[in-house]
Amino acid sequence: MRLLIVEDSEELAQLLANGLKSAGYDSDVLLTASDARAALSTTRYAAVILDLGLPDGDGLSILREIRQRDDPTPVLVLTARGSVDDRVGGLRSGADDYLVKPFAFEELVARLAALLRRPGQLLGSSLSVSNLVFDTESRQVYIDDQPQLFSAREAAVLELLMRRQGRVVPKRLVEDHLFGLADDVASNAVEVYVHRLRKQLADRGAKVQIHTMRGVGYLIAEEK
Ligand code: CA
Repeated sequence: MRLLIVEDSEELAQLLANGLKSAGYDSDVLLTASDARAALSTTRYAAVILDLGLPDGDGLSILREIRQRDDPTPVLVLTARGSVDDRVGGLRSGADDYLVKPFAFEELVARLAALLRRPGQLLGSSLSVSNLVFDTESRQVYIDDQPQLFSAREAAVLELLMRRQGRVVPKRLVEDHLFGLADDVASNAVEVYVHRLRKQLADRGAKVQIHTMRGVGYLIAEEK
């Protein structure tokens, strides 16, 4: 599960990213509206923390674009604009929550957790393929109803594949999901994770297969 932080104060953005990391959330940090637009068009985030005053545009227009394409990603607006009109405007533009700077970090984390708990959006019920089940709320994996331990990154790949079971997931998407935009990624890193995941699933008796579609991506399906 990755978050996107859009915030042009690099210092605050880094503070946020580090704080959220210790609260258990990985995030990508972007400083401009144009970078945010590009990332949002290719990557699914669990939630977005959005500053409004950006050097190359207004966060509100990004928010409206997200909602115009029926993207349900939860958005928490984090801004210095604190008047009632501003807050109402933000919520009407499709924000799920609105927090005014300066803010208490604990409050941000609590509000974020509440957003991520909301049902019917990206997170929700459990995903299943054959005897493999992924609970998207507890992030627990089960095989034949037995809880299984996977690393956070392995679980992230599994979730992505299971959300699109029977369809090919582009390798690039897996890479974004695993490592975000900021990290330097070895060219075979995705293969390594998928290979490891495949082996663990087989060892533990999951009746599923992760197929490699050469040059395209991966697909999870019931074992034939
Ligand atoms: Ca700003």
